[in-house]
Amino acid sequence: MPINTRRCFECADLGFTIEQNAKRLCWRRNLPGHAEPNAAARIVERAVDRLMVRKLQVDQYAFAIARILTQHTSERPFEKGEILATHLAQSLRSFHHIIADLRKVWLLPVGSRKFKPFGYWIITDQADFAEWVEREKAAPVTQLTWIHAVARHNFPVFAEQLELEFWQDMHGSDSVRRAA
Ligand SMILES: [Zn+2]
Repeated sequence: MPINTRRCFECADLGFTIEQNAKRLCWRRNLPGHAEPNAAARIVERAVDRLMVRKLQVDQYAFAIARILTQHTSERPFEKGEILATHLAQSLRSFHHIIADLRKVWLLPVGSRKFKPFGYWIITDQADFAEWVEREKAAPVTQLTWIHAVARHNFPVFAEQLELEFWQDMHGSDSVRRAA
C-alpha cells in the first residue's frame, strides 16, 4: 500500500477545516494530487455535521485529535508517546478527557486497545467495532448507553444486534428473578 507522505497542509486530507465554528471545504480539495478523504475522515465529517445541527461548539483540540485519529487504524493506532509529542493535550489526563468527549458528545467510534498494538483510532468497519464493543462490555453497565448511541450513528445494523442482546439480557435476568 502506498504511504501518502504529502498530506494537504490545509486540511491534513480530511477534506474540510473548521473556522469560527463553521465547516469549510478545503479550497485545495479539487487540486491534482489532493487525497480523497478516507473512510475515517468521512465518519468525522458526519460527526461534525451532527454537532452543527445540535448547535454545539466544535472544540479545536478535540477536532485536532479527531483529525489525527483519522490517519490511524486498528493495525496502526495512535500511541501514547505520539500523543504528548503533538502538544495538543497538556497531559494524558486531558487527552483521555478529549477522547471521552469525542465518544460521548461527538458520538465518534474511537477505538482503543490496552494490549499491543496499543492506542487509539477511528473505527471504520463493523467487525472492528464489534471487537471493540466486546472489550468495552467488561466495563460497568452504565457505559453501554453511549456505546449504543455511537453504534446507532455509525454502525446501525450492529446497533440493532446490540439492542436485541440487551433485550435478551434484561429478559433473561427477569426470568431468573421470577424463578427465584
Ligand atoms: Zn486539503
